[in-house]
Amino acid sequence: MGQYNAPLRDMRFVLHELLNVSDELKQLPKYADIDADTINQVLEEGGKFTSEVLFPLNHSGDREGCKLDPATHEVTPPKGFKEAYDQYVAAGWPALSADPEYGGQGLPMVLQNSFLEMLNSANQAWTMYPGLSHGAYECLHKHGTEEQKSLYLPKLISGEWTGTMCLTEAHCGTDLGLLRTKAEPQDDGSYKLTGSKIFISAGEHNMSQNILHLVLARLPDAPKGTHGISLFIVPKFLPKADGTPGERNPIFCGALEEKMGIHGNATCQMNIDGARGWLIGEPNKGLNAMFVMMNAARLGVGMQSLGLTEVAYQNALVYAKDRLQMRSLTGPKEADKPADPIIVHPDVRRMLLTAKAYAEGGRAFSSYVALQIDRELNHPDEAVRNEAADEVALLTPIIKAFLTDNGWISTSEAMQVYGGHGFISEWGMEQYVRDSRINMIYEGTNTIQSLDLLGRKILQDNGAKLRKLGEKIRGYVEENGLDESMSEFVTPLADLAAKVEKLTTEIGMKAFQNADEVGAAAVPYLRVVGHLIYAYFFARMAKIALSKQDNGDPFYKSKLATARFYFARLLPETAMLIRQARAGSASLMALDAELF
Ligand SMILES: Cc1cc2nc3c(=O)[nH]c(=O)nc-3n(C[C@H](O)[C@H](O)[C@H](O)COP(=O)(O)OP(=O)(O)OC[C@H]3O[C@@H](n4cnc5c(N)ncnc54)[C@H](O)[C@@H]3O)c2cc1C
Repeated sequence: MGQYNAPLRDMRFVLHELLNVSDELKQLPKYADIDADTINQVLEEGGKFTSEVLFPLNHSGDREGCKLDPATHEVTPPKGFKEAYDQYVAAGWPALSADPEYGGQGLPMVLQNSFLEMLNSANQAWTMYPGLSHGAYECLHKHGTEEQKSLYLPKLISGEWTGTMCLTEAHCGTDLGLLRTKAEPQDDGSYKLTGSKIFISAGEHNMSQNILHLVLARLPDAPKGTHGISLFIVPKFLPKADGTPGERNPIFCGALEEKMGIHGNATCQMNIDGARGWLIGEPNKGLNAMFVMMNAARLGVGMQSLGLTEVAYQNALVYAKDRLQMRSLTGPKEADKPADPIIVHPDVRRMLLTAKAYAEGGRAFSSYVALQIDRELNHPDEAVRNEAADEVALLTPIIKAFLTDNGWISTSEAMQVYGGHGFISEWGMEQYVRDSRINMIYEGTNTIQSLDLLGRKILQDNGAKLRKLGEKIRGYVEENGLDESMSEFVTPLADLAAKVEKLTTEIGMKAFQNADEVGAAAVPYLRVVGHLIYAYFFARMAKIALSKQDNGDPFYKSKLATARFYFARLLPETAMLIRQARAGSASLMALDAELF
């Protein structure tokens, strides 16, 4: 069923030639010894594991789905998932970027990020089982007590136990302030939790020995709204004194959701019937603590769509070179065959290049953000750490929304390359389209990401974080502005940067008069800023490619052509998006609800 080969050449290009990660990591004492060879070896091993072990289970997992035994509440994931998880654990993959103090391998996020892309290309549904553990690890690492950390972190890092995030309830998803799950303090310092959660990914399964549920709930005296939410760790099996799983805690899967995609992942309704849990962080500050997990998950969801974009592109490319239909408009290209391969047709090329450009742009952007996370967490200079943290905060909603919107566009275009065969499940392309759709919804819908970007991250700090990014881009433009060979990239980049600045000021002014202006502009606004960032990275990549295009390695010619396609065919979307963002709220708000 199709194919997947990790894009190692492009990953090495991004990490070593674009971002110079080995040099960057040398500035972080923790990673000073990590060289390019180590990085390349891990990438290669990751490529083998994902293409040989996980990819073959992707289509079968989609067809088979998960099964719930209503009597025992146990969930069985598709055939082969558990065995693949055992191999993943045996190879030490869960420990890759985790803290060595608790058993981790201590490798940087920027490397973990590339591996995450591979995992998601190979099998998004499977990747969600260990994927949520990573967010749980980060949340406990930051907010857990010493006792909680030494009990739980080694288990998460070894992969023996996995994690979930239990936020959503039937009546509240976006608006968590409405949640009702209760937590009552017990004499022994634990809490008794009661309530029900829906849509919990990897909520129940047999892949790991234990599941650590991170649950949002309310204390009896909690204030209403988001200031009354606390975070609890609720293990499926209560740990015994020796740390092994003991008594079953009453947090059960009541039903599995039937859904459009990611069939191999168990999306569970969870009934919490007086389960024992322990507070993480401070009472009523649960959302704060949970944000660590949510931010990790937002970046992770962006990587899900990047993974799907890449694998859909790879398969569509093979098909387009093989499928013979019609002749090229400029005359036969393979006259000995009954027709030309469809890759000769301009519009088939547009579809392929769209997915290729979104994969390569997303890879450059997300690797950069992962490197900024490494600097945020490890740079010896506090000012550098703070600057990196600000940038990561600004860019996180863009990773989540822009990469997932582009994943939807790209998988759909890649499916279209197959014509009718794309719609037939045997080829596997329709699964990528179905799987990618959820990425725009969960972890805060893309609308909510846009509001977070424009409202909280930009307007609330008077554009300070965005200005810093603007300075970086302006610096690049000034540095390269006189280089004629770069003007096809630098001129549109400079033009868009100026337009974003103007647009931001305009929306900010309008928002003073009417807060709905932010809601009306946010979605096209985020896409414009996403394009500004891609234009910046494609300009930087084009510069490297220009300098190496004659060295005999066809990779650079391909990179340059992709950059040119991006500027010619994808970036112009910003003209329309800016008009939409400027159109204001009046045409959206004019109609009374009953007149719709
Ligand atoms: C397959 C799957 C897996 C999931 N996994 C998990 C999980 O592991 N853990 C977990 O806790 N949750 C999980 N979720 C839940 C998911 O995060 C929520 O579905 C999502 O956050 C949206 O919440 P909702 O479905 O209640 O939609 P609602 O909040 O009801 O939103 C409905 C619509 O209104 C829009 N909207 C709401 N408020 C605003 C606003 N202020 N401005 C503009 N538009 C607005 C939304 O963008 C959306 O389009 C999962 C969901 C699915 C389908």
